[in-house]
Amino acid sequence: MRVLFILAILLTGCFQMDEPICYLDAHCDVSHVDDYRQDEIQALVWNQVYGRDDVPPPVTWVLRGDCPDGPGFSVYSGGCAVGIYRPAEGQVWVTVTPEKWESYAHEMLHALLDRDGRRDHDHTEPEWETLYPTALQSLRELGVLQ
Ligand SMILES: [Zn+2]
Repeated sequence: MRVLFILAILLTGCFQMDEPICYLDAHCDVSHVDDYRQDEIQALVWNQVYGRDDVPPPVTWVLRGDCPDGPGFSVYSGGCAVGIYRPAEGQVWVTVTPEKWESYAHEMLHALLDRDGRRDHDHTEPEWETLYPTALQSLRELGVLQ
């Protein structure tokens, strides 16, 4: 479980202070379309599991990133990320992959913590051991995550 958690961190990229460069130079194909059962999953993750009743951060779906060796988009710190939370805009970015809802749950937890005044890019807050696994389990039970 711990290995999976660390792997998830690496895959989702947690460069909270970073910016996706594809947003600025249009090398990534992005969409703001509310799709992929987002309303249903937002209600499950943001409202039910995370216990929030405020408006969740908007999600930008990266349909085609600019990373040469796999899915994801370039970030200014170097390398690629499949998901990112952008605190300056309060936005979540997620690359459309089969594991997109895992990235979504991850970045939405960053957003939750940020709204609580805890910008936890190191994943040291207790919610990573409680809320996050619960969200993933709920997504598996819904059938949208393996
Ligand atoms: Zn993270």
